[in-house]
Amino acid sequence: MTQPQSFSASDNPLLADWTGPFGLPPLAAIEPEHFRPAIDRALSRHRAEIDAIAADPATPSFANTIEALEKSGRELDRVCNVFFVLAGANTGDKIEAIERDVSPLLARHSNALYLNRTLYARIADLYARRARLGLNAEQARVLDRYHTRFVRAGGALDKAAQDRLAAINEQLASLGTQFGQNVLADEKSYALVLEENDLAGLPDFARAAARAAAEERGQPGKYAITLARSSCESFLQFSSRRDLREKIFQVWIKRGESGGATDNRALIAETVALRAERAKLLGFVTYADYRLDDQMAKTPQAARKLLDEVWRRARAKAAAERDTLQKLIAEEGGNFALAPWDWRYYAEKLRKAKFDLDEAELKPYLQLDKMVEAAFETARRLFGLSFAPVSVPLYHPDARAWEVKDKTGAHVGLFIGDYFARGSKHSGAWMTSLRDQEKLIGHVRPIILNVCNFSKPAAGEPALLSFDDARTLFHEFGHALHGLLSNVTYPLLAGTAVPSDFVELPSQLYEHWLEVPEILQTYARHAATGEPMPKALLDRVLATRTFNQGFATVEYTACALVDLDIHALPASTKLDVSAFERDDLARIQMPAEIVMRHRLPHFQHLFSGGGYAAGYYSYMWSEVLDADSFQAFEETGNAFDPETAKRLRDYVYGAGNLRDPVEAYKAFRGRLPSVDALLKKRGLADAVPV
Ligand SMILES: [Zn+2]
Repeated sequence: MTQPQSFSASDNPLLADWTGPFGLPPLAAIEPEHFRPAIDRALSRHRAEIDAIAADPATPSFANTIEALEKSGRELDRVCNVFFVLAGANTGDKIEAIERDVSPLLARHSNALYLNRTLYARIADLYARRARLGLNAEQARVLDRYHTRFVRAGGALDKAAQDRLAAINEQLASLGTQFGQNVLADEKSYALVLEENDLAGLPDFARAAARAAAEERGQPGKYAITLARSSCESFLQFSSRRDLREKIFQVWIKRGESGGATDNRALIAETVALRAERAKLLGFVTYADYRLDDQMAKTPQAARKLLDEVWRRARAKAAAERDTLQKLIAEEGGNFALAPWDWRYYAEKLRKAKFDLDEAELKPYLQLDKMVEAAFETARRLFGLSFAPVSVPLYHPDARAWEVKDKTGAHVGLFIGDYFARGSKHSGAWMTSLRDQEKLIGHVRPIILNVCNFSKPAAGEPALLSFDDARTLFHEFGHALHGLLSNVTYPLLAGTAVPSDFVELPSQLYEHWLEVPEILQTYARHAATGEPMPKALLDRVLATRTFNQGFATVEYTACALVDLDIHALPASTKLDVSAFERDDLARIQMPAEIVMRHRLPHFQHLFSGGGYAAGYYSYMWSEVLDADSFQAFEETGNAFDPETAKRLRDYVYGAGNLRDPVEAYKAFRGRLPSVDALLKKRGLADAVPV
């Protein structure tokens, strides 16, 4: 143990001026020891700024209150952006320890801002006079958002309620950090290490990835299947060893439920109770009511109505799929009931039989670098953007950067792609930023990252993706464009700062362009021969679009329903997490052969921070929007129709949170969507609800 060192601003790169290329932080020079002193200084500076705004003797004005708040806390944002990029994508014991210390500190800091009664009084005063302040539309929106945020954080409550809220928030922050770290620890501590003769059924790419994973874990010459989704799912899909499939599946679905020090169930029970108490203090019956009040859906009932409509059809479709798979087992002479660890394997077989298409045939055509180019080309055709690789110091050798320019050659921002799985990275895929766009203090250009967990190939081999991976790449790139194309003045409204049931529209919509034939024809090229994907194969790929969608929809929708249910519990509930999950799944009649895509003990969307708590339905909500949005292009007969693309940029990708999502959508599409396009997209339109 060493004492934390202190640094003067000049020898702490986090606190120095960032004068490197594109104003990037000097990532290569930053050590974990630099964070704590930098965060402490930034926190105290922001506190002083807030106190000065609250104590300003002048009558509250938009400039001396709202704009002043928008200009405050810049150092804190800078330092925290760097910290959380590393905590997600390149963490380790030191960063994790700092994260555990810092997360309650940041929660306390946020409390001090949003529970500051003097400051709230200024904002409430401005809000009451908003019609007479001479604000433009964006300023009016910023004031409205500040007012809503303060009210929703408890700014208007009495002192006793505020004190309790503050304590709850700090505790929730610590619980969220611990939850994520526990999942990562469980994922890191396990690998199914295999010998050559255990690999029956695995195609070359999966063998190569397993060999590379074993090598990274210090077991050269062996094969490791890890708990990263790409590794585990491709094993479940291809391995003909039913015993090994069951073995890894059982470990995979028990992440966070080990019974040991990394067991997350007690953390979940405490989190859910604290959230319910918080909602009650703020005047809501349940946490779900509180959460959805400021979303596009507005109420849990509206979200549930959509989910129910989809759920009953998805169950019917999944039941039919199950029967087909069971028949396949019987035809092969199998004498066992389809189990959850069999579904992907037999679905893959069926896909091969039905469409003469197997993932192994497809995969050599899906090279990571080409798919990145395909995502860039789509952005060029829709929005006139270009991407040029640049060599800048980043935090890990696998991360790469591109400068983004518009049609006129003007600088738009910097895009960083960090695509390969490694032990220092949390699982999943996400977009994040080192800097957000704004025009309040000069035109600040964004620095946006995509972080993924694709299997890293052995040295000298090309990185190949599954079709799902390629879809993930397009998805995250859609989020990246939401950040890059942002065109607002006030940072509060920039890029992805929209309700979570709207934020998945730009990402999920972008996935549609992966399936546009001219994109695949150009960019899906065989890694060994360079040949484009044959037309017949491409047709078969597109024909499988609705294949196995009963399974996929059930796997997802069950998570969304359980999420709404657990966040509708009263604060007093003594929650037994395993029993709750089991009973709730029984209540919604979850098919026995399918397991939730994310079981509660490792459901990071809900419990590793509160990003999607009572909000996992958002993906489906946004899918209604994305299916309907893509139809707008289809109706023109051109997947890149310039006028539709312009409206999409003006009201969605470039608009941040300038408008209420309902208004933004109507401005783009001329109307609100119906669920029909989604049901058609998932092949559920003809399913008879059960
Ligand atoms: Zn997303």
